[in-house]
Amino acid sequence: MLRRMSSYSGQKLATVVKELENFAPISWAEKWDNVGLLIEPHREKQITKILLTNDLTEPVINEALEKDVQLIISYHPPIFKPLTRITQSHWKERVVAACLANDIALYSPHTAWDKANGGVNDWLSEAVNRIISIRPLEPELGAPPGTGSGRFIETELELSQIVESLQKHIKNSVQIASAVNHQPNTLIKSVGICAGSGGSLLKGIRADLIITGEMSHHELLEFTHNNTTVLLCNHSNSERGFLTQFSPKLAECLKGTCEILVSDKDKDPLVTVAKNLDKEKNIFVDAYIQ
Ligand SMILES: [Zn+2]
Repeated sequence: MLRRMSSYSGQKLATVVKELENFAPISWAEKWDNVGLLIEPHREKQITKILLTNDLTEPVINEALEKDVQLIISYHPPIFKPLTRITQSHWKERVVAACLANDIALYSPHTAWDKANGGVNDWLSEAVNRIISIRPLEPELGAPPGTGSGRFIETELELSQIVESLQKHIKNSVQIASAVNHQPNTLIKSVGICAGSGGSLLKGIRADLIITGEMSHHELLEFTHNNTTVLLCNHSNSERGFLTQFSPKLAECLKGTCEILVSDKDKDPLVTVAKNLDKEKNIFVDAYIQ
């Protein structure tokens, strides 16, 4: 079979990594995190095709192999706890083995992207479509203004307007834990944002509304009894949309030398089943209708 020659001239891996760290230095990541270049191939390949994904699952590594990419950027680090072996018995080990065997490099930015100005939390904040002011909940010392963990937004919108715009923004349904005294037309003046799992960062903040990916039952009760409504997106649905926004930015940083793909196999493991099973397609149908 003839493989069509790539029209992209490509870059060295080190150049791509440098551009990624210009956007969000790995020194911004949390101390407990495991970020940066996680797999560097034994045989260096010119990087012409890059795959962006939120999670490097088995369907995504298969997609990477089919599409013949040389670099995967996985927002969540696929290697987190130290691996004591690389066998075929666990899916995470199989993913690492596939990268190594095919000389695919792996980079993970995680909490460095959360903090970046124009990063994951700023993307999630765009769901609030009337922003009077925005600032990080915890600014990153020594970093440019607007860098840090979470976001705090001043706004003036009805709760129902934010629910609607959030669902459009993440292209998915959300769950609502309504404050005891809130109705759909309650005026929301402050919003706390944390992409992913926001329970610990958002704990104790005073805001009319919280938007995050996931939170425990008891964390939800604390907020709803303190006049705060919580909107939950499902963990990765509060993060994934950033990749589509970042893709053309990265292409521009690399001066069009690499093709940037966003995974179409990457998805949140949870689906809200609001309708019956679609027997024809043999899938559960999500509640959100575009
Ligand atoms: Zn996350």
